[in-house]
Amino acid sequence: MLAKQPVSSSSVRILVLSPDYTDFCWYRALLAEDGELSTDLTWCPDLVDCEDLLRNAHFDVILWDCVFHGGSEKAFLHYLAVSGNDKPVLAVSAESPAELANELLGQGAADYLSKAGLDPWSLRRAVRCLWYRGQLGETEQGQLRREVASGFINRDLFFDRLQQALLRAERGRQRLALLHLNLDNFRSLNESIGYQESDQLILKLADRLRTSLRRVDSLMRIGGDEFAVIVEKVEDSLAISQIIRKVVSSLDDPFVVAGQNLLVSASLGVASYPEAGDTPETLMRRANRAMFEAKRDAGTSYRFYDQQLHINAGYQLRLEADLRNALRGHELELYYQPRIDLATEDVRGVECLIRWNHPERGLVSPDEFIPAAERSGLIVPIGYWVIEQACARLQQMADLGYPGLVFAVNLSFRQFHDRKMTETIFRIIYNANVDTSLIELELTESAMMHDLDYARRCLRELNQLGVSFALDDFGTGFSSLSNLQNLPISLLKIDKSFVQQLGRSADAEHIIRAIISLAHSLQISVVAEGVETDGQLEFLRQEHCDEIQGYYFARPMPWQELIDFLHNHSQAACLQQ
Ligand code: C2E
Ligand code: CA
Ligand code: CA
Repeated sequence: MLAKQPVSSSSVRILVLSPDYTDFCWYRALLAEDGELSTDLTWCPDLVDCEDLLRNAHFDVILWDCVFHGGSEKAFLHYLAVSGNDKPVLAVSAESPAELANELLGQGAADYLSKAGLDPWSLRRAVRCLWYRGQLGETEQGQLRREVASGFINRDLFFDRLQQALLRAERGRQRLALLHLNLDNFRSLNESIGYQESDQLILKLADRLRTSLRRVDSLMRIGGDEFAVIVEKVEDSLAISQIIRKVVSSLDDPFVVAGQNLLVSASLGVASYPEAGDTPETLMRRANRAMFEAKRDAGTSYRFYDQQLHINAGYQLRLEADLRNALRGHELELYYQPRIDLATEDVRGVECLIRWNHPERGLVSPDEFIPAAERSGLIVPIGYWVIEQACARLQQMADLGYPGLVFAVNLSFRQFHDRKMTETIFRIIYNANVDTSLIELELTESAMMHDLDYARRCLRELNQLGVSFALDDFGTGFSSLSNLQNLPISLLKIDKSFVQQLGRSADAEHIIRAIISLAHSLQISVVAEGVETDGQLEFLRQEHCDEIQGYYFARPMPWQELIDFLHNHSQAACLQQ
């Protein structure tokens, strides 16, 4: 019925994402003479405005010229899906349709048109189609919202919604998870606080749940004390477990209802597509079964229908919880690996490497927990703890009679992009009262190159304080050394994967040689990491590599061992003289 109504009263608002004004005028002209559909076009030629417009203005359709993206079409579509509140995206590209169309549709574009031969008729048809679809969706959503607020949702509507989501997941070859949440002991709660109050509680709970979810997830109340959440566009069990973590922790604080503080717990069952089934009915049944399993555990708990997912997600969540305790419970410790000057064989400094003394698992290596710390954001406080600890040790080192040793600390991607980074590092260093020229921060290429302007600003600010920077794992990324010219980087660390190929691959020799000569031409010193053999050492010496770090000289060691190592090393040096 809607499709037949002329819509001259309300025009279709279209956001045109295209760098080219001529193209914009062309689209406008193509759409201009549609008697049935009046359109209102907004031109947006750059990414910054795009973010602003998506957030603050309202559009019905996004017309996206595929050359408009910040680096990757796929990532940009994903961004539009999240920031554009799922507004339909009509992709237009100069490339021939067949393959690209499928790809873009699979990644979330609602329709695709090729620029070659684009005519008024096909553009209008596509826009009209998307607009009508949007209108239908909105009425459905509006209804959903009302039903969630007032009470129960229509079962058919829920299954229909789930069916649509499943189709999208199938088309996009993505995962989907259905969460079934049930409040524990709702009946006795009902009896003790009264029906009206428990209804208020449910509404408050729905509000909290909604804020803990992403915009693309849909929350529905499907029973008196039951909710279902459709979680779309999830890559793996990890992404699902992050969402569960948020849902679970949204129940941590008590709810205030009629002046009373009420603590509630819930049981969650999770069934995922494709592992647990591919129809709405099977998924719902299995999420329900998993929820009943979760009821066996006390407090808020969750279960996956799929056991392997349960194990993976459980492992991640436990790891994160343990890590939080580790930071509080002083289970973290720094190890130190000496860096040796190749010409003099003196120890020039140490790299501080974190270790976790897990009460049950023993020493856990950073490769295992740093990724989890990054994902949960815990890396930020952990990183600052590392800098504090390094500063304290730096002072002790001078007192022990080894002044002038450089302390290198690793900064993770997330920590480097923490808004308070420079300020916090300033404060730590200032409080510690250390010689800042002895502090070196190691960053990877990707952390630096992600946003060069930001990197330049932060590096300069900290550099003015005396802190120096090293580019870590060099060679594994794709940055060109010319980017480094404008950054205050004084050291480059060749990744151990190249060093370990020495003697086995001629390429590794060429690469290392090129890196050293290029770095030297920019007045940047070079450290080779992961040196284990005489052969590697000799090659690096011949190529005038400045310093080496590796098991050949020393492994990372605890503080006390480092002191012994330095003692022995300086004695050996005295004997040689
Ligand atoms: P990385 O920064 O590249 O650190 C060097 C890694 O190489 C260390 O691993 C070190 O033990 C290892 N290594 C050194 N010499 C040799 C050698 O001769 N042979 C071999 N096979 N390996 C060698 P580790 O300590 O396990 O640390 C792994 C990674 O974890 C580090 O790589 C770094 O990216 C990260 N990490 C360690 N501590 C911290 C920290 O405090 N903060 C952050 N953000 N990341 C850290
Ligand atoms: Ca490092
Ligand atoms: Ca490294």
